[in-house]
Amino acid sequence: MPAGAVFAQPASSSAVAANSGPAAEFGRHLTSAKAVMMSDPGSALRDARAAIEIGKGMSGSEARIAIATGQWLEGEALIRLNRAKEARKVITDALAVAVQDQPGSKLHADLLKANAAIANETGDLQSALTSLHQAHRIFGKLGERRSQAIVYQNIGSIYSEARDYQRVLYYYDLANETYGEDPNLSLAAHNNRGNAFKEMGKLADALREFRIALGIARKIESPLLEARIITNIASAQYLNGELAAAEATALSGLALAEGDAAEWRPFLWGIRAQIAYKQGQIATAQNFIERSFAQVDLAQTSGLYRDFHDTAQQIYAAEGRNDLALIHLKALKRLDDETYGITASAQSALMAAQFDATNQELRLVRLKQAKLMGEVKLARSSRQLRSAVLFSLYGGIAALAIIVAISIAFIANRRARLKVTAANDQLAYAANHDGLTDLANRGYFRALLGEAISHASAHEQPCTLFLIDLDRFKAVNDTFGHQVGDTVLRTVAERLGSLVAGRGCAGRLGGDEFASFLPFSAEINDPEEFAAEVVAALSKPIEIDGRLIETGATVGMASFPLDGSSIDQLSRCADLALYHAKDAGRGRSAKFVTSMQLEVDERSRLERDLRGAIKNSQLVIAYQPIVDASTREVVAQEALLRWEHPELGAIPPAVFIPIAEEAKLIDEIGKWVLRTACAEAQTWPGQVKLAVNLSAIQIEGADLTANIVHALAASGLTVDRLVLEITESAFLRQGASTDATLARLQSLGISLALDDFGTGFSSLSYLQRATFSTIKIDRSFVQKAVEGHNESLSIIQAILALARGLKMDTVAEGVETEEQITLMRSLGCTQLQGYHIGKPMFSTGEEAQSAGANAPSRAPRRRALRRTA
Ligand code: C2E
Ligand code: CA
Ligand code: CA
Repeated sequence: MPAGAVFAQPASSSAVAANSGPAAEFGRHLTSAKAVMMSDPGSALRDARAAIEIGKGMSGSEARIAIATGQWLEGEALIRLNRAKEARKVITDALAVAVQDQPGSKLHADLLKANAAIANETGDLQSALTSLHQAHRIFGKLGERRSQAIVYQNIGSIYSEARDYQRVLYYYDLANETYGEDPNLSLAAHNNRGNAFKEMGKLADALREFRIALGIARKIESPLLEARIITNIASAQYLNGELAAAEATALSGLALAEGDAAEWRPFLWGIRAQIAYKQGQIATAQNFIERSFAQVDLAQTSGLYRDFHDTAQQIYAAEGRNDLALIHLKALKRLDDETYGITASAQSALMAAQFDATNQELRLVRLKQAKLMGEVKLARSSRQLRSAVLFSLYGGIAALAIIVAISIAFIANRRARLKVTAANDQLAYAANHDGLTDLANRGYFRALLGEAISHASAHEQPCTLFLIDLDRFKAVNDTFGHQVGDTVLRTVAERLGSLVAGRGCAGRLGGDEFASFLPFSAEINDPEEFAAEVVAALSKPIEIDGRLIETGATVGMASFPLDGSSIDQLSRCADLALYHAKDAGRGRSAKFVTSMQLEVDERSRLERDLRGAIKNSQLVIAYQPIVDASTREVVAQEALLRWEHPELGAIPPAVFIPIAEEAKLIDEIGKWVLRTACAEAQTWPGQVKLAVNLSAIQIEGADLTANIVHALAASGLTVDRLVLEITESAFLRQGASTDATLARLQSLGISLALDDFGTGFSSLSYLQRATFSTIKIDRSFVQKAVEGHNESLSIIQAILALARGLKMDTVAEGVETEEQITLMRSLGCTQLQGYHIGKPMFSTGEEAQSAGANAPSRAPRRRALRRTA
């Protein structure tokens, strides 16, 4: 049973001092209006209006406040007289005065609460919630706990219409905590929590709450409330399968429900009918159900009768009384449709309301569940209606009358459905569209794409899917804040929207990912042209508050039917194309080509094979010497990993290390390299050090220090003989732990070398982040210097001067000629490494293959796998 939104009585408040004369007279009318508000709203209305007349005789602000106070009570009385329209006008007028003259006063909050009651009455739940939210804040500031508790209850009742029972429980609990002293409020809270638990199927919890409510009802000696709660208890017991207990409770309720409380008798009879039917006593059940419905018009019953209509139609169907069964079935259907409509509009109101705005995502998920439940229920009553139709036709009882009845039922059904549909439109829109940009969201975009594909295949017209990634969006968000970020996203959506307008569809898949699809006919236009338009449109700077924000876009595209015929295939292909476009430097578009798929296939093959490589002893380490520049004596050997693939031959680390990093295999492989190389180095002459390469991912991993310590301990290699080579990219990733890890390693006595210097940003700032013993100048720098490239030459000179000052060693990498050696030595480089000095060798003395220029050539496809940094 829905709890119903019953707005509680306003608390007493007086805005105008009542001492003598008109003021005293005014005060008397106010007091009297409040006193009879619940029992006799008609007389409360007369008192309120008399007070307003007196207020008109006052002057200035005093008069305005007096009139507004009178109007508040006038409005409250009108609401109770079901004259919400008239109430709206007086409350709106009074609210304007309160906002102007007494913002934040109790009168202001009371008027907001009245406003909420009117909005609720007229079905505008969203503004009801907003008003309640504001009233709640004011009451809180004023310390008006009772009024706050009433606000919480009102919110709880709105959530119960939306069937969000978790929140119903929460708000009634909050009401109780805020002001549990008032028995009336407390009773309502427990009873409504009980109803929520019952709807959630938590019957033991429901019974506990009902029993607390019953205790309170007995204390305040209200037979009316007692009978109502007993009905709830009996119903929960019945649902819980406690048939005997339910019967006893219902009987005690019937004994109690006299006088005012007699209005609960039909429901108590209804529960007894349910019990009897469950026990197979059909005749008794029919007797009871007749008593239940004796006084009501079956076409206009309230939601409280829903389950009894269900029981009635089962009883009559069991007895073959199809005419009666059909009438109850129609009533059941009508109530379900109504509830569904109310639920849907309550849900869409809540979704847009200010309350818990941060939880919108969460709520959306819940709403979907609730909606599904609603749909299941609806489907059930529709199905029952259909089967009853068939049954009655074949049953042949008063066939004509039934057919007439059925067609009426179907018309009513359709009308109800239309109403439901209208209420649902809002919900559907909110569920299908992205709240920020108003574009189709991921799920809806997929659905539209599915439709577009079927349409395209029916009309033999190609269509293209575009995946669009914003460039530098994260940086914009981090630098300028989320509000600017949101404006950027909205602007992008607008630009994208106007590009596709009338041609196709655009959506936001999440974060800074957008998508669109367009049909194309070969003669008219070209997907690549559209992609270029998108890149151009989204690269135009966006002006926000006088600032120009620069972002860009990268686009990947795939076409039906060429690249795929399903949503998933097309998405995968467009995604690959996007990946390639990003890899090629962003701000551009790429069309899917089959080689992209081949590359992925090969990559996944390598990944699969790499998993077994250690176990199958396919990994080997080659060592390349590093020599002193003047004596040419070997000072260190660098460990360089090789993968001897049984079918593909030697695979260079530039290919498989990135795969190992992505497949999270690098930690295991790195650990193996450390252990194996340390053990090998232990057998070398004591002055020769071991250099081991570390990838950025390894440095971020938790186990690195432990692995290194373990490798040294197991091999007996002393710490001072180990050098770890680290590239710039390790610093670019900005893992929070990188600096700390490097500092810890150094405190152990291990030296660090800055590898490949000159390939990245060549920033000397890395030298401040960690203490390096060595800088390795990249091969490309060395070669350019020899070719007379002046800029390279001066950078090398600067680095060498700096290194000398800091007493660091410098290694010229990749020296291939005597000329290069002479130059680097003359510039002051202290160490050399390169093919001219010595190639990477296996410890057996066999030359190791490498991916370098002098190495045997590799399949070009594999080379394409190399990732740019
Ligand atoms: P790197 O650390 O810069 O290693 C030097 C690379 O240059 C090696 O390629 C080496 O064979 C090559 N090389 C040395 N002298 C010359 C020369 O005179 N001319 C030319 N053209 N090339 C030369 P390799 O072995 O293919 O290694 C490539 C990269 O793979 C390494 O670059 C290193 O970053 C990474 N790597 C290798 N082994 C490991 C490892 O065990 N762990 C990690 N994390 N990375 C590794
Ligand atoms: Ca290296
Ligand atoms: Ca290097």
